[in-house]
Order: sequence, then structure tokens, then C-alpha cells
Amino acid sequence: MKKVLQDLNFQELETLVLSLGEKKFRAKQLLEGLTQGKAISGITSLSKAFKERLLEEFEDQPVRIKETFYSLDGTEKYLFELSDGNLIEGVLMKYKYGYTQCVSTQVGCRMGCAFCASTLGGLVRNLTAGEILSQILIVNALHKEDALGDGAQKRAVTNVVLMGSGEPLDNYDETVKFLRLVTSGDGLGISARNVSLSTCGIVPKMYRLADEGIPLNLTVSLHATDDETRARVMPVAKAYSIAEILKACEYYFQKTGRRYYFEYTLIEGENCDEEHAQALVELLKGKPCHVNLIRLNEVKERDLKSMGEKEAYRFLGRLEKGGLSATLRRQIGVDVGGACGQLRASYLQQNEQ
Ligand code: SAH
Repeated sequence: MKKVLQDLNFQELETLVLSLGEKKFRAKQLLEGLTQGKAISGITSLSKAFKERLLEEFEDQPVRIKETFYSLDGTEKYLFELSDGNLIEGVLMKYKYGYTQCVSTQVGCRMGCAFCASTLGGLVRNLTAGEILSQILIVNALHKEDALGDGAQKRAVTNVVLMGSGEPLDNYDETVKFLRLVTSGDGLGISARNVSLSTCGIVPKMYRLADEGIPLNLTVSLHATDDETRARVMPVAKAYSIAEILKACEYYFQKTGRRYYFEYTLIEGENCDEEHAQALVELLKGKPCHVNLIRLNEVKERDLKSMGEKEAYRFLGRLEKGGLSATLRRQIGVDVGGACGQLRASYLQQNEQ
């Protein structure tokens, strides 16, 4: 595999351009083209010779859309192909205020959560910062006619969530590099406040992230109110307790002043009875946090059941009555395999048969 040019920030591009004997201002043209989602070969402001020189070392376009699936509710699901043939997936959700894109940070995942399709084949490899970024660059370019805002701030993708395949904090350095690239005013310039990073709770990395000074929305996948239940669905719970996670969240709040979020997937018979609602209230009451409830998107390889919508609203009501700030996520994109890893898993299966 050749290198990924989208891994480089503006200063690194300047150094590269100068080392190749080009004028410094070419770095700006290069970054402009890449930010517009163009392949190297498609950047018209650069000379053919310079582009050929770049292509000796770098991938022309490190991420390509292999297939797009359109949900009836407007959600788009993409199967992306990387230069080495690996597949990842992403989702674009359309809201009135803009488009939210869900990106993957790894090919596969090694966290082993019982309800999640991403982890079915284990971890294949980490994505580079530029591969994570490129998912957004090409989707943003695809929808450029829907861009909002003015001038440099004009873009279709206004919000980013790191909730696709992979555990972002298990690919820490590239994820943080990506966060700096995507929020940089030299590039897409998406505000860190519009970026959410979801983790299964790798505690030491949560502390490190708090110290990076990137004011993003930190989300922890909780899914249980006690360590024993949590370990049944999330093996990572054997390494880090809920108490340790809450302490790290508190540290994040103190460092950044940002409230934090919890994802709580409702799994029938496992974590969504009245007693669980009560326990969740006890655990989180008074904390500067918000709970996002998600109804399980059933994965056919996994024997776990989703909760009915009415019951899910009753669970939400109990949390609210207990004083928690909480919402039940609308289920969208279900008809296009919206949950993590479902699309890649089904694609890999079809092609094995
Ligand atoms: N590894 C990170 C981010 C990827 S998962 C994490 O664990 O947070 C993003 C969110 O989707 C997590 O809250 C995860 O628990 C949830 N999720 C995964 N598979 C799901 C499914 N089948 N149904 C509902 N939510 C799911």
C-alpha cells in the first residue's frame, strides 16, 4: 500500500511540497483539492508532472465508495473500499440542521461486544487518520449541493460521530490526528463541538483524551448498571469498572467543561427492566451527563432481542422521572443495516458463499 496524502496536515504538506522542489503555495492548492474530496489526479490546479511525482508515493484516492444503500427515511449507508481491498462502512443521517456522518476508525474491532456486528471477524487493522478523514471528504463532496453556511465554512457534513466500526480509543494516535485534521480551519473546519467520540470505556485513554484539549462530545457505551451484567455483553468491562469510567468522565468534565454522554442499548431481558432504570438513576443522578437510549438493532448472528418501542418509552419516562437528562434515539436506517458492522458482515458473507 502506498502512503495516504490525507494523513498530512497543512504544515506537513508544505514540507512535502518544498522537498519535491515545488513552490510553497502549491501546498494550499493541494489541501484545497483534497478537502474538496478530489483524488490527486483530479486536482486541476496542479501540474501533471507534480501529480505524477505524488502518485509514485501516495494513493490517488485512499477510500472509495463501493456501494450506497438508500433508506426510505433518507439515511444513506456506504460500503467503502480501502486501497488494500478492505471494506469499512459509514452512515449519513440527514437532519434539518445539517448532515451527521458516522465514520469507522478500524477495519473490524477486537472489543467483542455481544450485540455488535463489527466485532464478528475480530480486528483486521487500524485506519490511518487520512483514511478516517477521507470517508468524510468524499461523502461531503458527493452532497456539495446540500452544503450550508458561507465561504470556507460551507459544507454538507456538519456533524461527525465516531460510532462506526472499531473502537476509536484502541486506535488512539490516528484517531486524535484525525480529530485535529477534521477540526482544522485549514481543512473542513468542523467544530469539535459537533464531533462525538464514542468509546466502550478504555479508561486510561479517556484521561489522555481529556488532556488533548479537543472540546468534543465524549460518549461512553454503558449498556448496563453493574459490572457483572456489563461484562456479559461487553468483555472490556472485565478490565475497567463502571466506577472507574465515571471517574474518568468526571475528569473529562473538569478538564473540558463539556458534559458527557452515555449510550445505553436496550436489550430485552438483560438491562431494561424497572430495576435497571432505577439503578441507572442512582448511578448518574446529579452528574453533568445525558443518556442516549438506543433500541437494539438486532444482528442475525447474535441471539439478542430488541425492546418494543412502547416499553422503551416507558424506560425513558422512568429515567426522566428520576431526574436524568435522556432521549430515546429514533431508529433510523434499519432497512439498510444501520448498526455497526452489519453491512460489511453481510457483504463478506455473501462473497464467501
Ligand atoms: N467502539 C465504540 C464505537 C462504535 S459502536 C463504542 O463502543 O462506543 C457505537 C455505538 O453503537 C455503541 O454505543 C454501540 O454499543 C452501539 N451498537 C453497536 N451495535 C449495535 C446494535 N446492533 N444495536 C444498537 N446499538 C449498537
